[in-house]
Amino acid sequence: MIIGAGPAGSATALRLAQRGVEDVTIVDLHPFPRHKTCGSGLSPRAIHTLEQLGVWPSVEPISYPISGLRLVTPGGHETYLSAGDKAQAAICLRHDLDYEMHKHALERGVTFVPGFAASEAIVRNNRWVGVRARDGAEIRADWIVVANGAHSRFSTCDGPKHTIHTIMGWWEHVGYQAHTLEMIWDPLTLPYYGWLFPETSTRVNIGITYEDGTERKNPRDLFAAFLHKHYAARLCGATQIGKWKGHPIVYTYRTGPLSSPGRVIVGEAGRMTHPATGEGISQAMRSGMFAADAIAEITSGAASERQALGRYDRRCANSFMPSFWAGGLFRSVLRTPLLDCLVRAKNMPVVKAATARMLAHM
Ligand SMILES: Cc1cc2nc3c(=O)[nH]c(=O)nc-3n(C[C@H](O)[C@H](O)[C@H](O)COP(=O)(O)OP(=O)(O)OC[C@H]3O[C@@H](n4cnc5c(N)ncnc54)[C@H](O)[C@@H]3O)c2cc1C
Repeated sequence: MIIGAGPAGSATALRLAQRGVEDVTIVDLHPFPRHKTCGSGLSPRAIHTLEQLGVWPSVEPISYPISGLRLVTPGGHETYLSAGDKAQAAICLRHDLDYEMHKHALERGVTFVPGFAASEAIVRNNRWVGVRARDGAEIRADWIVVANGAHSRFSTCDGPKHTIHTIMGWWEHVGYQAHTLEMIWDPLTLPYYGWLFPETSTRVNIGITYEDGTERKNPRDLFAAFLHKHYAARLCGATQIGKWKGHPIVYTYRTGPLSSPGRVIVGEAGRMTHPATGEGISQAMRSGMFAADAIAEITSGAASERQALGRYDRRCANSFMPSFWAGGLFRSVLRTPLLDCLVRAKNMPVVKAATARMLAHM
């Protein structure tokens, strides 16, 4: 049983089906397709993971290719980094990305139960054996994968939980350079940033990420100030679609433990998002694949539960921790003039290439 049909849950379901594990049920609060508040940016690693899952051929045609980055530093210097004609990243509206992954999982025999609000574990002899929904419905399972995102109350993680706040909106007809996303490190949001991600040739999403240890900042005021400072001219004549939306992103510098008897945690429920950029889609899908591999090993008898889940913890740590620590370092760099100096030296091709490489691999 998998709780949550976001990228983590659907990647787990798909990989389980690909590995020949039968009787997989995925539940979600919502019927699909459903909206998810997200910048919808797919990094090169996320695209590679979608390729591994066999989903990229159906996601690529509904994505907007990205080959360039407009970067604005805390000191107000700006530069454009380009990957040439070759798209390195993509934007795919989460409504569509999650639905594609979901359809692929269902096509492979996974059962979907919408409207299931998982609320408590059914535990026997210290082992998770099922989950009860808010309306009293129950599902029993040999394995329960927790993939219900940032608000999860089922996590086993014992490290400190950090929160990045966000607020964003969608607009039609905002001018922008084609195939280029924008990241603006403004003093208003430091050590986080604001962004503009083009979703189609006419529609963009714009948002900010910020920290608020005191919980005193007003997200709408902060976002309005950011928009006024950076996008006032370009938003004249644009049409806003829907309302501004906010959602937390949770992260950690130390994953795990990510399992207990009968239970495995994947994706943002395990706080596996990038501490500097808030990227979480690729980690969600990859941790889902790793968890499915572990469950497939146990069910096939290739490994004991202890071995397979120990390996799962290590795979997540080895895959994500180096980039999370690099993200922590990058946040510290933002408090120094280094990024400004790099961008001021932008005419030096070697500096440009190094900055692009650093951002792509962070
Ligand atoms: C504003 C914003 C912008 C972002 N931009 C990007 C970006 O551009 N690129 C990127 O890579 N990442 C981005 N992220 C992070 C990314 O959205 C998440 O890290 C990612 O969605 C995590 O995937 P997940 O599958 O773990 O969880 P989710 O995508 O959150 O999916 C969880 C699923 O569980 C379901 N669920 C929740 N509770 C229950 C319950 N009790 N019972 C049953 N089902 C339940 C939900 O309905 C949902 O479908 C952004 C996040 C925010 C908030």
